[in-house]
Amino acid sequence: MDLVFATGNTGKLREAAEILGPGFRVLSPVDVGLAGFDVEETGTTFRENSLLKAQALWHACGLPCFADDSGLEVDALGGAPGIYSARYASDHNFASNIDRLLAELNGVEDRRGRFRCVVTLILEDGKPRFFDGACEGRIARERHGAGGFGYDPVFVPDLYPNLTMAELSEDAKNAISHRGVALRLMATYLATK
Ligand code: IMP
Repeated sequence: MDLVFATGNTGKLREAAEILGPGFRVLSPVDVGLAGFDVEETGTTFRENSLLKAQALWHACGLPCFADDSGLEVDALGGAPGIYSARYASDHNFASNIDRLLAELNGVEDRRGRFRCVVTLILEDGKPRFFDGACEGRIARERHGAGGFGYDPVFVPDLYPNLTMAELSEDAKNAISHRGVALRLMATYLATK
């Protein structure tokens, strides 16, 4: 079965293909003739933004498809950066977004937070189905590690309390990540429906 994923991120495309397994072919918008596919994220929740992207893709290509939206929530910051994770300090600049996060948490003891992801799947019936994933952890006081992307160098997952997400192998991260959890829920749904 072919599924179109509303992302141009090759890392995410590869991860989704691995998790879904050999019964599925994961295509990008470019693969179905939608070069430049982009959706303004005007929602107020991960779910709304994930739905906006999936519905836009569904209307554009009419093929079974899915989208994700994700970000980091920090309790001491009232859930920020949340849906604004990609543009917390400046748009898609991971270094300055981390700088702002560490500055906001300067002197703060409670550093609990979590990555969240909502995947929206739309099949032939046009109905959206949602799959939620979270990865609990805390924000380190300084950067460690060179892997991953985004806030990974300052996120310490509960399951590996001495390592940041950027110090884990790709496989170890995918096994515990918010996106991995949500994508595996979708894979199980697709395999059993
Ligand atoms: P998007 O859902 O890919 O647009 O991600 C939104 C933003 O959340 C990213 O730009 C990152 O700042 C952050 N983010 C989402 N997932 C991760 C992750 O696995 N590691 C680190 N940061 C992430």
